[in-house]
Formats: sequence, structure tokens, C-alpha cells
Amino acid sequence: MKRFRDIQGNDAVVSALRQMVDGGKIPHAMLLHENDGGGAFPIVLAFLQYLYCRNRTAGDACGDCPSCNRIAKLIHPDVHFVFPVAGSDKPVSSQFLPAFRELALQQPYFYENELFGSLGLDGKQVLISVNEARSLLDKLSLSAVEGGYRSVVMYLPEKMNQAAANSLLKMVEEPPENTLFLLITHEPEKVLSTIRSRCLLMRILPLSRTAEAAVHPSGTADETLYLDLFADLMEALLSRDLLTALETGEALAGLESREKQKSFCKFAVETVRGIFLQQQGLGELSALSDEERAFVVRMAGRVRPTFARGAMHHFDRAMLLLGRNVNQKILFTDLVNRLYMIV
Ligand SMILES: [Zn+2]
Repeated sequence: MKRFRDIQGNDAVVSALRQMVDGGKIPHAMLLHENDGGGAFPIVLAFLQYLYCRNRTAGDACGDCPSCNRIAKLIHPDVHFVFPVAGSDKPVSSQFLPAFRELALQQPYFYENELFGSLGLDGKQVLISVNEARSLLDKLSLSAVEGGYRSVVMYLPEKMNQAAANSLLKMVEEPPENTLFLLITHEPEKVLSTIRSRCLLMRILPLSRTAEAAVHPSGTADETLYLDLFADLMEALLSRDLLTALETGEALAGLESREKQKSFCKFAVETVRGIFLQQQGLGELSALSDEERAFVVRMAGRVRPTFARGAMHHFDRAMLLLGRNVNQKILFTDLVNRLYMIV
């Protein structure tokens, strides 16, 4: 059950959403920007539950009426979920809905890689296609089953291609009455500007470390592993020990899935960004764990001032290539060599 009272932090966002419903002034389209796994999805569910609830009390949904129940189980007929998928027969997300529901009910704070893993799309190049857009337009051409709002929850609109965006644009620009678009993005700058400019942008703040550990116990374990690997790599690079650095590269190529390898790269980008900010004297490191912060501060004093920019570029590139099914061992060997040149 996800109600406003269950949401961790983000009080300002929650109160803004509540006021929209109370005041009857709900924007047609909202773009919620979260960090991966950051909890925009439960906030969207709490908002929808409040919006559709037939028995709101004390600024929250009742959690008990048929609408609340259907939304909490992700089976409300007027709430449509759209997310990127892949497959040779150009599938649409409704074909993956059972797996989506299973994950989102069990772990509403899901990470991108958990979702694609659950959908059986690990390592595939996923997208929101024009087929998806058409299927959605078909659904929205019918009136709301229950006579109220129709809502579209779209996860990762940055993975929408141009054709899909073109076909959805009119709907997002001038939605039919009582139609809402709730878009959850990790990279707002990659959402096509034609779509983004029509949306009210809301920033979902990252969870505190305690809340994070509560909702992602295993994610915290992954981050500990990633930090260990990254620290090994940096130590080897800084000691000019290419052989050990390449061994760490092999360990990375041996991580159990491409999604984990991508997660490692993402973790490395964020850590390197921390090093950069620290070197610039802009250190806002409060989102990091104590171990990460100590590591970042230590590294900032040891790597060249030009390292961070180059390293972020190389890790970004590695993430991109991992999405294209290149050989992982070659990729990580190449990455280590490139980092060795700039450290
Ligand atoms: Zn209710």
C-alpha cells in the first residue's frame, strides 16, 4: 500500500502534489526526475491513489476503497503503465505487464537494471517505440472506464524514439480532458525537448542513506562491491601497475550481468564526479556514504586535475557500448588502458 504517509522524505513534492488535487489544478503532464531507484514510482502511486480515492481523509487516500485497492495492486483500468521494452516482434509494454507488476509490487523502489532483469531484457537495447505510442493512443481514445481521470505512467521517457514522440506529441500538448501524463526520468536532458517542454518538471530528492539502506538492502551490498573494485582499480592505476589494473578490469568483465557492469560504470561516473567537485572546492558530498566520501577526498588529492573529465567520458562510453553487446572483456581492457593514460 503506497499512500503519501508511506513516502520517505520529499515533503515539498508530496505537499505540492496533494495541493494540486485539493485545488483541482493538476498539470496535464509532469516530468519527475529521480536518481535511479530513488522512489519516484511510489510517489506517483501515492499521488494517483489520492487522486482516485473515493474517501480521502486528512490529506491522504483512505487506502481501503476499491480505487485505492486497484491502484495499489497496479490493476486500475484507467491507469496505464508504459516502459521501454525490446524484442524482435516489436512488443509493447502491456505484454510485459505481469512481470512489471510483480517487481513493482514487491520493490516499488526498483532500479532500472532490476526492471529490465525482471522483464527478461537484461542487456537488450530497450525503447519506447512508435508501436507503443499507437497502442497508448488507442487506449486513450476510449473514455475512462470509471468516468474519472485517465493516467499514463511512463517510466524512462528518455528511451522514446523520435517516431514515438511525434505520435504522442499532440496528446501531451493538448491532452483530452481528464488525461494525465506522469513521466519518470533519470536523465531529463535526454528526454526529447518537444515532450519535456510540455511538462512540469519536479525533482525527486535522493533518499537519505538510512532510507536508502531500508529500501535497497542488496543495492547497498552492490555499492560496497563496486567501491571495492573501483578503489582497487584506482590504486593500481595510481601505482602505475597496469597488470593489476587489467586484472581488476577482468573482474569487472566477470560481474554476473551486463546490467551490473553498467551499474558499476554508473557508480564510477558518480564517484568521479564527486572527485571533480572536491577538486573544484564545490564538494557537496552529503549523498555519499562515509566510505565513499573518504575515498573521494583521498582520490581528489592524488589524481590529475584533468582526470575526472576524461574518466567520466570513458565510463559513459563504456556504458553505451555495454548496451550494444560488445565483448565485455575487450571493453574493460580498453577502458583500463584509457584510464591508465590519463590518471
Ligand atoms: Zn480510497
